[in-house]
Amino acid sequence: MLRRGASSSLRSLRLYEITGLHGKCIVPRGLAMWPNGYHRGMFSYRHAFHAGNHADVLKHTTLIATLRHLMQKEAGITLVDTHAGAGLYRLDGDYTETGGEAKDGVVKLMAALRAADRPAVKDVSPAIDDYLDIIAGFNPSGALRVYPGSPFVMQQLMRTESRDRLKLFELHPTDSKTLAANIAQLDAGRQIAVAREDGFEGLRPLLPPPPSATGSKRAVVLIDPSYEIKSDYAKVSACIQEAIKRFPTGTYLVWYPVIPRPEAHDLPRRLRTLANQAQKPWLNATLAIGQDPTHGPDDRPGLTASGMFVINPPHTLKAVLQVALPQLLTHLGRGRGKSQALESGG
Ligand code: SAM
Repeated sequence: MLRRGASSSLRSLRLYEITGLHGKCIVPRGLAMWPNGYHRGMFSYRHAFHAGNHADVLKHTTLIATLRHLMQKEAGITLVDTHAGAGLYRLDGDYTETGGEAKDGVVKLMAALRAADRPAVKDVSPAIDDYLDIIAGFNPSGALRVYPGSPFVMQQLMRTESRDRLKLFELHPTDSKTLAANIAQLDAGRQIAVAREDGFEGLRPLLPPPPSATGSKRAVVLIDPSYEIKSDYAKVSACIQEAIKRFPTGTYLVWYPVIPRPEAHDLPRRLRTLANQAQKPWLNATLAIGQDPTHGPDDRPGLTASGMFVINPPHTLKAVLQVALPQLLTHLGRGRGKSQALESGG
């Protein structure tokens, strides 16, 4: 069920949010199997629980820095978000209250760098500043209530005059409905399309992208699955392998969790191999916020680290993240195991 929420970001934008039972998969009655063999049990993940956490901070800061650079060139870009989520999230809503993960992410960062009652922090990384500006744009009252997911982050940077296009895939029935409702109010017409389809499959026919008005073909693809299903790891590798073949000059950004699971461990290695084989430059940024010192031995630690692997990154991205990552660690790092790293190659 969709609930029309209070007027939110960007003045007239309304926020459509997911309502339902906490932590339960919400599916229409009697629907056991969804398209492409996905079973409803695979969809217990709801990004609303995690919106604005440290992983989103890393992901969206990297995404924004990438797009900012690429958009300096006039030619239009095809943007694809293969796993889009619901688009907008309430940070004061039921879902986020339960997990409260934004407290260790965007809320903490915003408080450290933008609190009115604290002295201004000097030399903040421009990429972090840019990220916080975008988040602040969705929260004009000053209180942090709304978090924009990747579809809205990308939409904020899109250019009408260059005819950038955005294609969003979201397979979850409730989240895709919510996303469609959130996007519909932008009146973006054909500039933004939402599909309730498998994003791994849906990407294929979009590559290579159509030529822009200047004749060049450009694409940026964000691949951000929830990795609830073990097969997602192999699907990401296969998807990247095919995408590079179909469109070797595209920029591909893959988010992945850093967790003690062999598939998760192998994914960045596999992506590095694929990029090296295709002789494409790559960059791998990781951020680990470490253990929560207030947690007891029986508390579940939750996700403490994640990475962004970028193939064909803008040549400026490495220098940008070299400044941003240590600052993210300073402000978000908690305890044992905290670290950041940046590798590149190609
Ligand atoms: N990219 C979003 C952001 O940064 O705001 C968050 C996406 S969340 C990590 C992953 C989403 O992928 C979930 O909403 C889930 O329902 C959806 N999903 C899972 N498998 C999918 C598939 N094969 N194709 C499209 N969406 C999928």
